[in-house]
Amino acid sequence: MIKQRLQDAINTQINKEMYSEYYYLSMAAYFETEDLPGFANFFKVQVAEERFHVMKFYDYLNERGGEVILAGIDAPPTKFESPEQVFNLALQHEQFVTESINILMELANEENDHSLKSFLQWYIDEQVEEESTMNKYKNQLRRMNGNGHGILMLDRELAQRVFVPPVK
Ligand code: MG
Repeated sequence: MIKQRLQDAINTQINKEMYSEYYYLSMAAYFETEDLPGFANFFKVQVAEERFHVMKFYDYLNERGGEVILAGIDAPPTKFESPEQVFNLALQHEQFVTESINILMELANEENDHSLKSFLQWYIDEQVEEESTMNKYKNQLRRMNGNGHGILMLDRELAQRVFVPPVK
């Protein structure tokens, strides 16, 4: 059985991953209104990734004999200024999630829960990728400096992204 303190922390993390899903869906919706379907697709794929993150914690907590307790999800921002601003916000959000996973790992260390430590390593590695992806497009958009042609070219690239469920 998993300790109560760790169960509570995992439930909090599930809520953060659910919020991430909601936040990225709001970003996708913004791009739909901007007629940038490739950017919208990128964030819809991100939504699927976040759901995967949620379900991985959900399955793990159940497997450990814990109880998944869902809480309310905060409303995400609904107004955005530009593609560059969206990727800036997405990067900041991933940095926040990384910090949260790191704190969870510290708790697992304090409680000597080796199973949880091993499980969390997947998220630690995943966060490196998440931050790197957001940072790459943030930098490309900064270089474009609002250039419409560049943004349309990137829109075509982002239209190619597909959700591939990670190997567990
Ligand atoms: Mg996530």
